[in-house]
Amino acid sequence: MDTTSLTGKELAAALNADTKQRAAALTERGSAPRLVLVVANDDPASGWYVGSLRRAADRLGIACDTVDLGADATADAIRAELTKLSGDPAVDAVMLQTPLPAGVALDDVSSAIAAAKDVDGVSPLSLGLLAAGLPTFPPATAEAVVELAKHHEIPLAGRHVAVVGRSNVVGKPLAQLLLAENATVTVCHSRTVDLPSVTSAADIVVAAVGRAGLITGEHVREGAVVIDVGTNEGPDGGIVGDVDAAPVRGRAGALSPVPGGVGPVTTALLMRHVVRAAESGRAE
Ligand code: NAP
Repeated sequence: MDTTSLTGKELAAALNADTKQRAAALTERGSAPRLVLVVANDDPASGWYVGSLRRAADRLGIACDTVDLGADATADAIRAELTKLSGDPAVDAVMLQTPLPAGVALDDVSSAIAAAKDVDGVSPLSLGLLAAGLPTFPPATAEAVVELAKHHEIPLAGRHVAVVGRSNVVGKPLAQLLLAENATVTVCHSRTVDLPSVTSAADIVVAAVGRAGLITGEHVREGAVVIDVGTNEGPDGGIVGDVDAAPVRGRAGALSPVPGGVGPVTTALLMRHVVRAAESGRAE
């Protein structure tokens, strides 16, 4: 079967062009939109991600600062920094990087990020607003899956979507976004019995687990759409997804690549959220 590649580069470029224009307009009217990344780890993957966000912000005319609290920061210190940034009128957007220091739970500290600046939708308040169908910033990765599907004209209404993974970062918010698109959603996780039988009943399978090669040909029915959110280190040091691409490509009607699928759209949506936060903050 011919499998369409659901690349994200074209959509990311279109989103970025719009963001760049809006950032320039904000800069002309006063100051550049400002994002602050709060880091409390010395994890190399997090360091790489922070670097890529800073470069993306720079390309789009968004000011981006990093506050490094150190890998042994306490929950109190992280909460205090997030509270300070949330109240700082010169800061439009705040992102807390993971992993957090041992013993610090994300929910515990993320509630200190004001919803209006929570551009990656991580706080319990943002997630609750999303679940209630109220305006908020959805987690960018979850939103990227929906936007990638729409960009490639994959209908969601009435479709059965199996989401594999139920984290607060991807799986759960994605289920909410898909429900809002009138999809019928099944959420799978590590305790799901007979995963292949559940996913192969779906029109669309989204893999958001963090295990290279978990989704194989038997998980996918002929002609289904497969969206791969996973980012795992491959055998040669590059990034690979959760989908074993070779066998799935032979069965699926469409498959998103890793890298180059959900990833670039996620970054573009994050930057769009920063500009939106700045636009609404300054309109107040
Ligand atoms: P996470 O918090 O570790 O959650 C993983 C989820 O997968 C959990 O719900 C877990 O189930 C489930 N799971 C684990 N093993 C499973 C199995 N054998 N069968 C079915 N489900 C299983 O990970 P995450 O933060 O959601 O991230 C998921 C992946 O997305 C990672 O590869 C991450 O790097 C990637 N990611 C990519 C982007 C991007 O921009 N492209 C952004 C964020 C994350 P339980 O709940 O039962 O433990």
